[in-house]
Amino acid sequence: MAVILDGKKVSLDIQEELRIETKERVERGRKKPHLAAVLVGDDPASQTYVAAKVKACERVGFDSTLIKLPEITTEKELMEEIKLLNENPKIDGFIVQLPLPKHINEEKVIQAINPKKDVDGFHPQNVGRMVLGLPTFLPATPNGILEILKRYKVNTIGKHCVIIGRSHIVGLPMSILMGQNYYPGNSTVTLTHSRTKNLKEICQEADIIIIAIGKPNFLTADMVKEGVVIIDVGINRVPDETKKRGYRLEGDVDYNEVIKKSSFITPVPGGVGPMTIASLLINTLNATKLNSK
Ligand code: NDP
Repeated sequence: MAVILDGKKVSLDIQEELRIETKERVERGRKKPHLAAVLVGDDPASQTYVAAKVKACERVGFDSTLIKLPEITTEKELMEEIKLLNENPKIDGFIVQLPLPKHINEEKVIQAINPKKDVDGFHPQNVGRMVLGLPTFLPATPNGILEILKRYKVNTIGKHCVIIGRSHIVGLPMSILMGQNYYPGNSTVTLTHSRTKNLKEICQEADIIIIAIGKPNFLTADMVKEGVVIIDVGINRVPDETKKRGYRLEGDVDYNEVIKKSSFITPVPGGVGPMTIASLLINTLNATKLNSK
């Protein structure tokens, strides 16, 4: 029987730990963490993610500021906003919700963020520190995955971990972190992508599969071996007229079938998604400690 990796519960446990630590911090006269989120345009998924992040801040007693900018915001205007946030001593960390409208260069924007406030861990300086195993802000989704593996004591040491998808925000950093020489890492990592040949055979050899490609039901039961650990990062909106909002959320895994062969599996929703929020909050508290030294 598979153990369900309950990201919703673990995320709430972490948030409660953060709430207590924040309360004690504030009682000692220290600064209350303050996260800012910049949202450009009106992409519905981005709006949902940002709203969840702001709500989580409230739950743990952080201050939060949501900066909503219209779709027509120019790159220059966004850069000015970032400069203000970089220089504002009240803001400990901030995120710019991706994706940005097509006319804005994401790389340029990420590089403009002060690395000490880069709680998404996307700045090249922080990515470099992650690669070298130095203290840094780890990107929220990969860090959330490490945290859930730790809390459920999933053995990763010497295991063959296959990662599907090589995006800069999930697959690529995940491949580095699972290969680091400390727990939860020490796995032998295979990073796969759309050009990979024999993906099915590679997956059949995997002890752990972490999939982040954005294709519903892509990973099927015939692709995995008995006892596999499945981390499903995908969030796909599948049209569904029986739902009030007109769609349902599905991961990248054929959950109902793959669960029968798994030892551990994350559901969607309620798996990796809530963990991403928890690790953003952890990074924000760490940024507050770092910046108030
Ligand atoms: P991207 O769209 O940036 O990248 C997708 C990756 O999947 C690429 O590396 C691509 O390969 C690879 N890919 C696409 N098709 C195949 C295939 N048939 N076989 C193997 N690899 C394939 O993805 P993201 O990482 O941004 O997002 C992936 C999913 O994760 C989405 O559903 C997203 O919503 C979700 N997500 C969830 C988060 C959470 O908190 N739970 C956070 C972030 C993302 P190539 O490089 O060759 O093009």
